[in-house]
Amino acid sequence: MSKTKITVAYGDGIGPEIMKATLNILDAAGAQLEKEVIEIGEQVYLKGISSGIEPRTWESLRETKVFLKSPITTPQGGGFKSLNVTTRKTLGLYANVRPCKAYYPFVRTNFPKTDMVIIRENEEDLYAGIEHRQTEEVYQCLKLISRPGSEKIIRYAFEYAKKYNRKKVTCMTKDNIMKLADGLFHKVFVEVAKEYPEIEADHKIIDIGTALVADRPEMFDVIVTLNLYGDIISDVAAQITGSVGLGGSSNIGEDVAMFEAIHGSAPDIAGMDIANPSGLLNGAVMMLVHIGQPEIAEKVSNAWMKTLEDGIHTGDIYQDEVSKKKVGTQEFAQAVIERLGQKPSSMKPAVFSKEKRSSSGPVILTEHPAARKELIGVDVFIDWKENGRDANVIGEKLRSVDADGLKMQLITNRGVKVFPEGMKETFCSDHWRVRFFNADESVITHDQVINVLNQVRDMGLDFIKIENLYTFDGERGFSLAQGE
Ligand code: NAD
Repeated sequence: MSKTKITVAYGDGIGPEIMKATLNILDAAGAQLEKEVIEIGEQVYLKGISSGIEPRTWESLRETKVFLKSPITTPQGGGFKSLNVTTRKTLGLYANVRPCKAYYPFVRTNFPKTDMVIIRENEEDLYAGIEHRQTEEVYQCLKLISRPGSEKIIRYAFEYAKKYNRKKVTCMTKDNIMKLADGLFHKVFVEVAKEYPEIEADHKIIDIGTALVADRPEMFDVIVTLNLYGDIISDVAAQITGSVGLGGSSNIGEDVAMFEAIHGSAPDIAGMDIANPSGLLNGAVMMLVHIGQPEIAEKVSNAWMKTLEDGIHTGDIYQDEVSKKKVGTQEFAQAVIERLGQKPSSMKPAVFSKEKRSSSGPVILTEHPAARKELIGVDVFIDWKENGRDANVIGEKLRSVDADGLKMQLITNRGVKVFPEGMKETFCSDHWRVRFFNADESVITHDQVINVLNQVRDMGLDFIKIENLYTFDGERGFSLAQGE
């Protein structure tokens, strides 16, 4: 078998110890790897590179397309960017895959039957990092959800389910509230699910969904969700399986894939040879499957489970009733190496199928004919805190705006209608949204919008942003205000 080139980063804190243990196991198992070691993290941040990664490092990743990464420490204080977020976005690693499995009774958990995989969208949502302070009181973070981004991750989840013989994919959103953004994700899920009739498709609102993951995890198989929800729910899932120190994860792009442990650099135990290397090892097992060495992946995974079954445990999972020997990082790795070729007897042995090397490969997205987009109104946001913030005062003032028929229809404050006919109990911040339509809600022009803004400025009001109101094939592309 020819060797596969991979890029390796030893990382910070416990990173070097767990990487050494992991690579020793992979080498002993016969993994065919040509490793290119790169430096990322603390040392690079301290050289003054705010991204934590040197520009030439990207070349290695572009060439090998496979990255085995130890955790890194993000220095405290402003100015340092999260290396993980930078890597995911730069390399287009759109899918974060986290298997969460119970290894009962060898690892303590209340949910011995848990075996689910969380597939989290990795590039969009509130993590786009587009934030603005708009007034004295109000800050905004933009949530962006795209159709291609949603389709890519949802297709990946169904393909994953098919490849790994999983029976059900559950989508989680909050589309009862965010009808457009989360609604799009749910809608695309329903569309894509139709192409996989052999796989059960289900949807849960994220709040009850998270509660069920925490209370009845055995009902889930594959979960696909948006970036923020996935971030939270994957930690809940890892925690309840008792496997925060054991879980590996992969970040998959069309070209490149990155494999790591789910935990951080654990500076509190760095250099003590007591860290559990299992998280990174499980990440490395996912890597072996990905690069087409599934038989080595099986060998490593089975020897690892056998080690757990034999009660050889690092301190983080040691239990008096179950464990036989407390070992350090390198001794644990040695125990796994001694068991290469053996299979677990009470846990189900690992079976991995051949996969193609080339990550997810180019994703072919469904083509949709372009919709007819028409501008029918505008929301003008205004910073205003005079006159005791009486909505009637700003409302009456703006009634006089008339841009060739484009007139104010209503004002909201934090989404609630406050003019006309607002309720005096509604609390008003200094952030007002003023909605303008033509009286008959017909199509308007950009010139009318500019005319509105000129009139607002001439009144001495500070407009902080606008949002155009469009229809797409006649369907409203904006939400109604509460009370509208
Ligand atoms: P952490 O996961 O590093 O540690 C949390 C707790 O779990 C600590 O008590 C630690 O000792 C323990 N722990 C973690 N991994 C362990 C292991 N393999 N074996 C035994 N015990 C283990 O989380 P944290 O303390 O919040 O973060 C520390 C640093 O790691 C921060 O700088 C953070 O930014 C970084 N971090 C990096 C990644 C990554 O690179 N993927 C992920 C999360 C956090």
